Amino acid sequence: MHKFTVLIVEDEKSICDFTSRTLISHGYRVSCASTGSEALSLASSLCPDIILLDLGLPDLDGMEIIQKIRTWSGVPIIVVSARTQEEDKVRALDAGADDYLTKPFGISELLARIRTSLRHSNKVNSGNGLPPHPYRAKGLEIDFFKRNITIKGEAIHLTPIEYKIVAFLAQNSGKVMTYSAVMNNVWGPYAESDNKILRVNMANIRRKLEKNPAQPVYIFTEVGVGYRMADDEENL
Ligand code: CA
Repeated sequence: MHKFTVLIVEDEKSICDFTSRTLISHGYRVSCASTGSEALSLASSLCPDIILLDLGLPDLDGMEIIQKIRTWSGVPIIVVSARTQEEDKVRALDAGADDYLTKPFGISELLARIRTSLRHSNKVNSGNGLPPHPYRAKGLEIDFFKRNITIKGEAIHLTPIEYKIVAFLAQNSGKVMTYSAVMNNVWGPYAESDNKILRVNMANIRRKLEKNPAQPVYIFTEVGVGYRMADDEENL
Protein backbone atom coordinates (compact mmCIF):
# COMPACT_ATOMS: atom_id res chain seq x y z
CA MET A 1 0.00 0.00 0.00
CA HIS A 2 1.26 3.44 -0.87
CA LYS A 3 1.92 5.49 2.24
CA PHE A 4 1.67 9.27 2.13
CA THR A 5 4.75 11.13 3.34
CA VAL A 6 4.23 14.02 5.74
CA LEU A 7 7.00 16.54 6.37
CA ILE A 8 6.61 18.04 9.84
CA VAL A 9 8.34 21.39 10.23
CA GLU A 10 8.41 22.19 13.93
CA ASP A 11 11.10 23.43 16.30
CA GLU A 12 9.39 22.28 19.49
CA LYS A 13 10.52 18.72 20.01
CA SER A 14 7.54 17.63 22.12
CA ILE A 15 5.02 18.75 19.48
CA CYS A 16 7.09 17.18 16.75
CA ASP A 17 7.32 13.85 18.60
CA PHE A 18 3.61 13.79 19.40
CA THR A 19 2.62 14.63 15.84
CA SER A 20 4.98 12.05 14.31
CA ARG A 21 3.80 9.27 16.61
CA THR A 22 0.18 10.08 15.82
CA LEU A 23 0.72 10.15 12.07
CA ILE A 24 2.85 7.01 11.98
CA SER A 25 0.19 5.12 13.95
CA HIS A 26 -2.35 6.23 11.31
CA GLY A 27 -0.34 4.87 8.43
CA TYR A 28 1.68 7.88 7.31
CA ARG A 29 5.39 8.04 6.63
CA VAL A 30 6.92 10.98 8.52
CA SER A 31 10.01 13.19 8.32
CA CYS A 32 10.83 16.09 10.60
CA ALA A 33 12.63 19.39 10.12
CA SER A 34 13.31 21.74 13.02
CA THR A 35 14.44 24.76 11.03
CA GLY A 36 13.27 26.58 7.91
CA SER A 37 16.37 25.83 5.91
CA GLU A 38 16.13 22.14 6.76
CA ALA A 39 12.47 22.30 5.72
CA LEU A 40 13.34 23.76 2.31
CA SER A 41 15.98 21.17 1.62
CA LEU A 42 13.76 18.25 2.74
CA ALA A 43 10.80 19.64 0.77
CA SER A 44 12.81 19.31 -2.40
CA SER A 45 14.78 16.13 -1.67
CA LEU A 46 11.91 14.18 -0.11
CA CYS A 47 9.00 15.37 -2.28
CA PRO A 48 6.52 14.95 0.60
CA ASP A 49 2.81 14.57 -0.12
CA ILE A 50 1.98 17.19 2.47
CA ILE A 51 3.81 19.66 4.72
CA LEU A 52 2.81 20.69 8.24
CA LEU A 53 4.50 24.03 8.76
CA ASP A 54 4.95 25.73 12.11
CA LEU A 55 5.00 29.48 11.45
CA GLY A 56 7.28 30.31 14.38
CA LEU A 57 10.68 28.93 13.42
CA PRO A 58 14.08 30.06 14.69
CA ASP A 59 15.70 30.89 11.35
CA LEU A 60 13.27 31.67 8.51
CA ASP A 61 9.90 33.39 8.39
CA GLY A 62 7.09 30.92 7.64
CA MET A 63 5.77 33.19 4.87
CA GLU A 64 9.14 33.04 3.14
CA ILE A 65 9.12 29.25 3.27
CA ILE A 66 5.64 29.07 1.71
CA GLN A 67 6.58 31.50 -1.06
CA LYS A 68 9.79 29.63 -1.84
CA ILE A 69 8.07 26.24 -1.99
CA ARG A 70 5.26 27.68 -4.12
CA THR A 71 7.75 28.73 -6.81
CA TRP A 72 8.23 25.07 -7.73
CA SER A 73 5.67 22.89 -5.94
CA GLY A 74 1.94 22.69 -5.32
CA VAL A 75 2.38 20.31 -2.38
CA PRO A 76 -0.36 20.95 0.21
CA ILE A 77 0.92 23.06 3.10
CA ILE A 78 -0.97 23.16 6.38
CA VAL A 79 0.18 25.99 8.56
CA VAL A 80 0.39 25.39 12.30
CA SER A 81 0.25 28.49 14.44
CA ALA A 82 -0.54 29.79 17.89
CA ARG A 83 -3.94 31.29 18.58
CA THR A 84 -2.46 34.78 18.73
CA GLN A 85 -1.23 34.71 15.13
CA GLU A 86 -4.54 35.32 13.38
CA GLU A 87 -3.17 37.79 10.84
CA ASP A 88 -0.34 35.39 10.06
CA LYS A 89 -2.86 32.68 9.22
CA VAL A 90 -4.54 34.90 6.65
CA ARG A 91 -1.21 35.96 5.18
CA ALA A 92 -0.07 32.34 5.01
CA LEU A 93 -3.29 31.23 3.28
CA ASP A 94 -3.10 34.08 0.81
CA ALA A 95 0.57 33.23 0.17
CA GLY A 96 -0.46 29.74 -0.92
CA ALA A 97 -0.91 27.62 2.21
CA ASP A 98 -3.89 25.26 1.96
CA ASP A 99 -5.20 25.31 5.48
CA TYR A 100 -4.21 25.86 9.07
CA LEU A 101 -4.29 24.26 12.49
CA THR A 102 -4.28 26.22 15.69
CA LYS A 103 -2.14 24.99 18.57
CA PRO A 104 -3.00 23.08 20.62
CA PHE A 105 -4.78 20.83 18.14
CA GLY A 106 -6.48 17.47 18.62
CA ILE A 107 -5.65 14.27 16.80
CA SER A 108 -8.95 14.05 14.93
CA GLU A 109 -8.63 17.64 13.76
CA LEU A 110 -5.08 17.00 12.55
CA LEU A 111 -6.10 13.87 10.64
CA ALA A 112 -9.17 15.53 9.11
CA ARG A 113 -7.14 18.53 7.87
CA ILE A 114 -4.54 16.22 6.32
CA ARG A 115 -7.16 14.05 4.60
CA THR A 116 -8.95 17.10 3.19
CA SER A 117 -5.77 18.68 1.86
CA LEU A 118 -4.55 15.44 0.30
CA ARG A 119 -7.90 14.92 -1.35
CA HIS A 120 -7.90 18.42 -2.84
CA SER A 121 -4.36 18.10 -4.12
CA ASN A 122 -5.12 14.72 -5.72
CA LYS A 123 -8.18 16.20 -7.40
CA VAL A 124 -6.13 19.07 -8.75
CA ASN A 125 -3.30 16.80 -9.88
CA SER A 126 -5.54 14.28 -11.63
CA GLY A 127 -7.10 17.22 -13.51
CA ASN A 128 -9.20 14.92 -15.70
CA GLY A 129 -11.45 17.80 -16.69
CA LEU A 130 -14.55 16.02 -15.42
CA PRO A 131 -17.00 18.36 -13.77
CA PRO A 132 -17.48 17.78 -10.06
CA HIS A 133 -20.09 15.37 -8.76
CA PRO A 134 -22.92 16.93 -6.75
CA TYR A 135 -22.05 18.23 -3.31
CA ARG A 136 -23.98 16.61 -0.48
CA ALA A 137 -23.93 17.34 3.24
CA LYS A 138 -26.60 17.08 5.89
CA GLY A 139 -29.49 17.10 3.43
CA LEU A 140 -28.08 19.98 1.36
CA GLU A 141 -27.40 19.09 -2.25
CA ILE A 142 -25.79 21.21 -4.95
CA ASP A 143 -25.94 20.13 -8.58
CA PHE A 144 -23.18 22.12 -10.30
CA PHE A 145 -24.53 21.38 -13.81
CA LYS A 146 -28.03 22.56 -13.17
CA ARG A 147 -26.93 25.16 -10.62
CA ASN A 148 -29.58 23.76 -8.35
CA ILE A 149 -29.53 23.87 -4.59
CA THR A 150 -31.94 21.82 -2.55
CA ILE A 151 -32.31 21.01 1.10
CA LYS A 152 -34.07 17.71 1.70
CA GLY A 153 -35.51 18.01 -1.80
CA GLU A 154 -36.82 21.57 -1.36
CA ALA A 155 -35.43 24.09 -3.84
CA ILE A 156 -33.45 26.98 -2.35
CA HIS A 157 -33.50 30.21 -4.32
CA LEU A 158 -30.23 32.08 -4.30
CA THR A 159 -29.18 35.15 -6.29
CA PRO A 160 -26.40 34.53 -8.85
CA ILE A 161 -23.82 36.07 -6.51
CA GLU A 162 -25.02 34.01 -3.56
CA TYR A 163 -24.86 30.89 -5.71
CA LYS A 164 -21.28 31.65 -6.78
CA ILE A 165 -20.20 32.06 -3.16
CA VAL A 166 -21.84 28.82 -2.05
CA ALA A 167 -20.60 26.84 -5.07
CA PHE A 168 -17.02 28.05 -4.53
CA LEU A 169 -17.10 27.06 -0.86
CA ALA A 170 -18.72 23.70 -1.68
CA GLN A 171 -16.10 22.91 -4.31
CA ASN A 172 -13.51 23.52 -1.60
CA SER A 173 -15.51 21.87 1.17
CA GLY A 174 -13.68 21.09 4.38
CA LYS A 175 -11.07 23.73 3.64
CA VAL A 176 -10.96 27.24 5.00
CA MET A 177 -11.28 29.88 2.28
CA THR A 178 -10.07 33.36 3.20
CA TYR A 179 -12.31 36.37 2.66
CA SER A 180 -10.03 37.58 -0.11
CA ALA A 181 -10.02 34.17 -1.84
CA VAL A 182 -13.84 34.21 -1.93
CA MET A 183 -13.94 37.87 -2.99
CA ASN A 184 -11.47 37.24 -5.83
CA ASN A 185 -13.33 34.19 -7.03
CA VAL A 186 -16.73 35.87 -7.05
CA TRP A 187 -16.01 39.52 -7.86
CA GLY A 188 -12.70 39.06 -9.67
CA PRO A 189 -9.27 40.56 -9.09
CA TYR A 190 -10.60 44.10 -8.80
CA ALA A 191 -12.85 43.26 -5.90
CA GLU A 192 -12.96 45.83 -3.15
CA SER A 193 -10.64 45.01 -0.31
CA ASP A 194 -13.45 45.69 2.16
CA ASN A 195 -15.28 42.41 2.71
CA LYS A 196 -18.55 44.02 3.85
CA ILE A 197 -20.34 43.00 0.64
CA LEU A 198 -19.30 39.39 1.27
CA ARG A 199 -20.56 39.47 4.84
CA VAL A 200 -23.88 40.94 3.70
CA ASN A 201 -24.27 38.18 1.12
CA MET A 202 -23.30 35.53 3.65
CA ALA A 203 -25.96 36.78 6.06
CA ASN A 204 -28.56 36.37 3.29
CA ILE A 205 -27.21 32.94 2.34
CA ARG A 206 -27.46 31.78 5.93
CA ARG A 207 -31.02 33.05 6.23
CA LYS A 208 -31.89 30.86 3.24
CA LEU A 209 -29.83 27.77 4.11
CA GLU A 210 -29.57 27.51 7.83
CA LYS A 211 -32.35 26.66 10.24
CA ASN A 212 -30.63 28.83 12.81
CA PRO A 213 -28.31 31.33 11.07
CA ALA A 214 -26.55 32.05 14.38
CA GLN A 215 -25.58 28.37 14.67
CA PRO A 216 -24.78 27.35 11.11
CA VAL A 217 -24.39 23.71 10.16
CA TYR A 218 -23.41 24.21 6.49
CA ILE A 219 -21.08 27.21 6.31
CA PHE A 220 -18.90 28.01 9.31
CA THR A 221 -17.14 31.27 10.06
CA GLU A 222 -13.45 31.08 10.90
CA VAL A 223 -13.21 34.32 12.83
CA GLY A 224 -10.88 36.85 11.25
CA VAL A 225 -9.94 34.41 8.48
CA GLY A 226 -12.83 33.33 6.26
CA TYR A 227 -15.37 30.53 5.78
CA ARG A 228 -15.28 26.74 5.80
CA MET A 229 -18.08 24.67 4.30
CA ALA A 230 -19.09 21.33 5.82
CA ASP A 231 -17.22 18.46 4.21
CA ASP A 232 -18.87 16.73 1.27
CA GLU A 233 -20.33 13.47 2.58
CA GLU A 234 -18.62 11.51 -0.18
CA ASN A 235 -15.31 12.49 1.40
CA LEU A 236 -16.04 11.51 4.97
CA1 CA B 1 7.70 27.16 16.92
